[in-house]
Amino acid sequence: MAEHAEFLVVGGGSTGTAIAYYLSLVAGKEVLLLEANRVGSGQTGYSTAIIRLHYSTPEVARMALESYRVFERFEDLVGGSCGFRRVGFVLAVPEGLREGLERNVSMLRSMGVETWAVSPEELKDLMPWVDVEGIAAAAYEPGSGFADPTETALSFARAAAENGARVVEGERVTKVVVEGGEVKRVLTEKGEYVPGTLILATGVWTQQLASTFGRTVPMKVLREEIGVFTRPEDFRGEHPVFADLGMDFYMRPHGEAETYVGSIEPPPTALASQDEGGRPISRETYMAYHERISRRFPAFERSPHQPRGWTGLYDVTPDWHPVICRDPEVSNLIWAFGLSGHGFKLAPAIGMSVRDLALGKRPEFFEPDHFAMERFARGRGIITTYGIGVVS
Ligand SMILES: Cc1cc2nc3c(=O)[nH]c(=O)nc-3n(C[C@H](O)[C@H](O)[C@H](O)COP(=O)(O)OP(=O)(O)OC[C@H]3O[C@@H](n4cnc5c(N)ncnc54)[C@H](O)[C@@H]3O)c2cc1C
Repeated sequence: MAEHAEFLVVGGGSTGTAIAYYLSLVAGKEVLLLEANRVGSGQTGYSTAIIRLHYSTPEVARMALESYRVFERFEDLVGGSCGFRRVGFVLAVPEGLREGLERNVSMLRSMGVETWAVSPEELKDLMPWVDVEGIAAAAYEPGSGFADPTETALSFARAAAENGARVVEGERVTKVVVEGGEVKRVLTEKGEYVPGTLILATGVWTQQLASTFGRTVPMKVLREEIGVFTRPEDFRGEHPVFADLGMDFYMRPHGEAETYVGSIEPPPTALASQDEGGRPISRETYMAYHERISRRFPAFERSPHQPRGWTGLYDVTPDWHPVICRDPEVSNLIWAFGLSGHGFKLAPAIGMSVRDLALGKRPEFFEPDHFAMERFARGRGIITTYGIGVVS
């Protein structure tokens, strides 16, 4: 016998748990979250979880800011911990991107964000270990940092459950049945549901599920490798998060002595399948990161070269921005995927926005068609200062 679920959310990553949480505040036990494995076990668990505000469109900047306000006071607002650490964020750019960076900083400042542009000399005061060769300017945000992605998803899920939502782990959705422009049934390995509204927050696995009702989504899966580096004795303590657009890498501290390093735009050869997450980093990528970070921060030349790190996957859309919308053809279906490698920090705002869409309201941060799936077919992808990649 099929069970009714008024709001059925599929996927227990940072996206799905935030959606379930914000919906649970208004719909309590009418919310059901189905997660195939464990909450946070998807790409959320492989995330470096950087939280920054620097974006180049007002819509995403607003979402980052609203989300930041949640991460800052997570315990009071949501309950539990998100592991936020405020170490600061620096974005360094070469000459060609200096004007764009300054424009973004002005926009963010007009929104009340504490950020400013710094010269290479000022950057050296902030990060004495840096070699500023090739850096024309940098943006600095003292309040940004990073969080613990798994802890965040678990806290959202726990808080949703405390509000009456049902959070079910170990139940995979195997098929979505659409008839007459409506989702009629959702089949799982264990049972069957009749959803009022179905919300798909399945990240890199979205195409798999979309195929069960004959749909193709505008998304590819890209491999992103994260290297773990031990810093030498004279480069200890938590340094700011640092992103370098000229040299295509970013790094964030992990504790007093380690640094995680990733790329800003994975190469085309990074095309992957949805089940590759969690593999170890390749020696080739690790050595390439080591070479880049040693040029920017020469102290890394003295760090051990033994490859350590992991592979995560990005669900990337053609403009590196998410799809968050009601489906144009299926009346009770909402999509929230394609976070394109920068969606952890936006999770709270995505949760609030999807709650509004599910309740038939206009989302607070963007026009309802801003993140629509059809934007690509209409040639209206989102244009940003830095082009494609995770820093946009
Ligand atoms: C290496 C890496 C580094 C990153 N760094 C950052 C960063 O610094 N800052 C930032 O903001 N973002 C970052 N991101 C991006 C961010 O982490 C992701 O956008 C975000 O966590 C994705 O969450 P999600 O919930 O959409 O997907 P996921 O966490 O993958 O969750 C999807 C869930 O759906 C479940 N699922 C799939 N199919 C089914 C099904 N049929 N039935 C039931 N359940 C199903 C899966 O098991 C999974 O748990 C990074 C990502 C990676 C991979």
